[in-house]
Amino acid sequence: MGEIRRRVLVVDDDDEIRDLASAVLSQEYEVMDAVDGVAGWEKARSWRPALVITDLMMPRMHGYELCKLLRGRDGLSGVKILVVSSKPFATDKAQALAAGADDYLVKPFVIDDLKNVVGKLLSSAAGAPPPPAPDEPGATKRSSFLSSVPAPTGASRIYVRFWGTRGSCPTGGVKTVRYGGNTPCTEVRVGDVPLIIDCGTGLRELGVELTREFSGRPLVGHIFVGHTHWDHIQGFPFFTPLYNPQNTFTVYSVHGARSSLRSIFSESMALDYFPVPLSSLASKLSFVELEGSVDLGVAKVHYHHLNHPGVCIGFRIEAQGTVITYLSDHEGFVKLGGDGDLSRRQDAAVVDFARGSDLLIMEAQYTEQEYSTRKGWGHGTYEDAAALAAAAGVKSLALFHHDPSHTDEIMDANVKACRDLLGAAGSKADCFAACEGLRIDYP
Ligand SMILES: [Zn+2]
Ligand SMILES: [Zn+2]
Repeated sequence: MGEIRRRVLVVDDDDEIRDLASAVLSQEYEVMDAVDGVAGWEKARSWRPALVITDLMMPRMHGYELCKLLRGRDGLSGVKILVVSSKPFATDKAQALAAGADDYLVKPFVIDDLKNVVGKLLSSAAGAPPPPAPDEPGATKRSSFLSSVPAPTGASRIYVRFWGTRGSCPTGGVKTVRYGGNTPCTEVRVGDVPLIIDCGTGLRELGVELTREFSGRPLVGHIFVGHTHWDHIQGFPFFTPLYNPQNTFTVYSVHGARSSLRSIFSESMALDYFPVPLSSLASKLSFVELEGSVDLGVAKVHYHHLNHPGVCIGFRIEAQGTVITYLSDHEGFVKLGGDGDLSRRQDAAVVDFARGSDLLIMEAQYTEQEYSTRKGWGHGTYEDAAALAAAAGVKSLALFHHDPSHTDEIMDANVKACRDLLGAAGSKADCFAACEGLRIDYP
């Protein structure tokens, strides 16, 4: 009988990265792979590898959460974890290590670097592989395809309304009156059901409007949060419908890089920051960590990971044949990581996600000139937005997440330049910059 080969599990949703890692490592190790975080977690528990190599941005469960599960009570004692991600942000490396990773390698990697780091990690790992674990139900509590609200009877009207369009920091004052100074909040309305994307300071005014509209009637709302940087959650405690016991809200995002979605919101309302704790909100409030698409009855919502420090996702909302895609806080993969097979595939996946949208709401924080000194900040330019809109064949492009330094005059100029780019690319997409109060109706 030969020597016992150490077990290595490769968890990545990119076929070529899985194949490459398996081919390189199977010369020395016994290698298996898994296509996403949930499959990786199940395989790790049943197969007990000595090393788990995991990507970060994956469907169903991201790599941070897999790291934490592997290090948790039901995890694998002594397992080594290598995170291999195309995200070069310092935040992501720090958060991956904090989540339990032993090392972090940026994709695309040099094959020798992978071999070296795997050899180094396994030389310090525990000895023989432990016996397989008995079959146990998974420890995650998420549902992969949720179905909650029954579709209303009769025809629904669909509209999109912007309540906050500014990126990074609320920017009041006379220079931003036309495009708005509140941070991201977009309402996608299907009949009586509001789908709210992001909880920037624009959410406060939406709360005032919903309270007026629903006066006395219970309100059921769905809140989708792309990520939890300040500008995307600051309006939450000021959303007055949360204080009405008649109302029901569900907050959807993925698990945070450091803690659960609920605890991120709860911490943001700790007494040091706000006088009313999350637990005192009177409405029926629940938090759902997505691991797949969600079917709300009135709409289906899909998500896709974006390239931004920490965990950040975009949404595609499909309702009665209308498709609205929201991609905010994203830096193109080729733009940041350089032109390569992997970064091109990742950009193509984002294009596919937005394909054929009636409306693409896309961040366009910088001009190319500004970008040159802000590379790696997790944002892109209106040129990137135009290129993506043209490639995805969208009908309409709303520039979004405006930089705090962009006055109304600068915004006018950027919109004009973006329209020219779309025209030059042969796109017929209608282009405008999202502005507070703007409402777009769909038949
Ligand atoms: Zn932002
Ligand atoms: Zn952000």
